[in-house]
Amino acid sequence: MPDVVRFAPSPTGELHIGNVRTALYNWFLAISSGGSFVLRYDDTDVERSKDSFAKQISIDLDWLGIEPGRVERQSERLARYDAAAEDLRRAGLLYPCYETPEELDRKRSRLRARGLPPVYDRAALSLSDAERHALEAEGRRPHWRFKLPAGARSWDDLCRGPQTVNLGAVSDPILVREDGSYLYTLPSVVDDIDFTVTTVVRGEDHVTNSGVQIAIFEALGASAPQFAHHNLLVRGDGEPLSKRDNPLSIRRLAQDGYEPLAVASLAVLVGTSHPVAPGESLDQLAKTVALKDVSRGPATFDPAELKRLNAAIVHALPAPATDPREALLWTTVRDNLTFRGDVNLWRERLEADADAISTASPLSGDEKVIVSEALALLPPEPWDEATFGAWTKAVRQQTGAKGKALFMPLRKALTGADSGPELGPWMRLLGHEATVARLEAAAT
Ligand code: GLU
Repeated sequence: MPDVVRFAPSPTGELHIGNVRTALYNWFLAISSGGSFVLRYDDTDVERSKDSFAKQISIDLDWLGIEPGRVERQSERLARYDAAAEDLRRAGLLYPCYETPEELDRKRSRLRARGLPPVYDRAALSLSDAERHALEAEGRRPHWRFKLPAGARSWDDLCRGPQTVNLGAVSDPILVREDGSYLYTLPSVVDDIDFTVTTVVRGEDHVTNSGVQIAIFEALGASAPQFAHHNLLVRGDGEPLSKRDNPLSIRRLAQDGYEPLAVASLAVLVGTSHPVAPGESLDQLAKTVALKDVSRGPATFDPAELKRLNAAIVHALPAPATDPREALLWTTVRDNLTFRGDVNLWRERLEADADAISTASPLSGDEKVIVSEALALLPPEPWDEATFGAWTKAVRQQTGAKGKALFMPLRKALTGADSGPELGPWMRLLGHEATVARLEAAAT
């Protein structure tokens, strides 16, 4: 059956790799079932929601290769939430409460002091009309709580297996604030009903919410969707990723030159039963990793692992087909790249003048001797694949140097660095004139 899924970020910050994990698991269900993906901006918090964040989220999803079939904003659907709230009020399931945050705090502390769970006592349910009027006359405005049913709610979670939330241990959730604005809980249920969402995939921080929301689905006469709660990505120190972890925001990773596929591979494979390895495409990753493969423990994000994946993906990129010199440069240096843009550093090195190269990597006296001999033995062009081997064999025979003692001075002289690409093709890219100039500069 085609799945209808939704990814529901609040546009109050930039997406990070942990948010993208949620987006991708949703996307995988949509593409593997021939279903659809709704991007829903949870922007009922008008103070903190920003249009610029919403735009960036859409850019980030596009960068990753996720194409929402439908985009919705909760801020444009308030009339629907008002209607649903009214239905609940009429059914006696949404009741006004007048406690201040301080009063609620005191209630919770008292319960905790007695070793009891800090569950709201429903005092407001037994207020008489006269008491309510008196409170409103004091200037208090009500917030509205949903009256949870007794008992528990259970579901078969696509990540976690059978789950049960005991609603007796949960406070009646506040659905509407004093100022009439909505918290996330009710709008989310109304939207999931209206958009015919079949499966809700989100982080395991929402497990209790799901128990509560199942009761709200029922109260609104709808059946609840399936649920999948995946583990959360944490940093190496065990702390959760947050919207303030800006270096890990998708915008920053894209700007730093990461491949979308490296980010996606890490996001969906870490913390699962699969090894973390570069994916070939989102389609292939969607076929590889299923929600049931997600582990129960937290998934640790390791920036070094992301770099490793990125490098592996870059090493497998094809050479550009257009220009033979660019193609040779690419195949010569690609194994030395972490980011595809690093090819420019090697192009600069290739084009740098001989003095800059010899200054970057000066040679010892012994090394200079090897390089002078090499200069004397350098064959004329044309050069081919066999030239470098024949040349260095001659230098070895002449100087007796071999292995590192032979190749390191040549490497430093020709590239200005002590590690890098294979020297044979690099020398062909340099050509006779630049090779001579570099050997001369290094030897003096
Ligand atoms: N805006 C909520 C969040 O980011 C959405 C949770 C959900 O998917 O229902 O946590």
